[in-house]
Amino acid sequence: MARYIGPVCRLCRTEQKKLFLKGDRCKSDKCPINRKRLPPGKAPKSRQGKQSDYAVQLREKQKLKRTYGLLETQFRNTFEKALRMPGKTGENLFGLLERRLDTVVYRLRFASSRAQARQLVLHGHIAVNGKRVNVPSFIVKAGDQVAVHASSKKLELIKDALQEFGRSGVMPWLEVDPDNMAGKFCAIPHRQDITDMADIREQLVVELYSK
Ligand code: SF4
Repeated sequence: MARYIGPVCRLCRTEQKKLFLKGDRCKSDKCPINRKRLPPGKAPKSRQGKQSDYAVQLREKQKLKRTYGLLETQFRNTFEKALRMPGKTGENLFGLLERRLDTVVYRLRFASSRAQARQLVLHGHIAVNGKRVNVPSFIVKAGDQVAVHASSKKLELIKDALQEFGRSGVMPWLEVDPDNMAGKFCAIPHRQDITDMADIREQLVVELYSK
C-alpha cells in the first residue's frame, strides 16, 4: 500500500502548523515548528503577494490530507464517498476519516502517531470485534470493539503510547480500558467534537474538489 516516505517535519513546515506526525517528538522542544523557520521554498512575508483562493483551498486540503496520513488518491476517494452520503460533505468527510482503523487506533492511544498506528494495523496487532484486521483504511462502525490482539499485548511501544492516556484521556466518542489494551468506538463524532481539528476549514476542501 502506497504511503508518503519523505521527511514528515517538512510537511508541517509547509503547512506552518503542527500536524503531529512524529509522536512524542512533536510535543518536545525538538519540533522544528517551535523554531519558527520559514516554510520550505517560501519567501519572507515582505516579498509574498496575496494568496489566490485556489492556493488557500489547496493548503487547507493538504493540511487535512497530511494530518490523516493519506495520499491524494486515497483522500480523493474518501471525499467522493463523503459526497455520495446524505448530509454535509465536510462533516461526512471528517466522519469517514475518524472511522479509519488507523485513526481509531491512534485516538485510542495504542500508538503515538498515526504512522505508528498504521504500522500496528498492517502488522496484524489490532483486532476489531475479536477478529484480526490488517487494513488501515478499514471503516469502523459505531459500537465496534477495537483492541490490541492478545498475542501483541507485550509490545513495549503500545505500553509506552498508552502512558499518554493517563495524561490526556481520549476523545469523547471513544472509550478505553488501558489495562486490557481495549477500546470501543461508541459513535461517529460530530464535527464540533473533533476539537484538535477546529482550525481546519473543510468547506474550502469541498470548494476545491467541486471546481
Ligand atoms: Fe510536525 Fe511533529 Fe515534526 Fe513538529 S516534530 S514538525 S509536529 S512532525
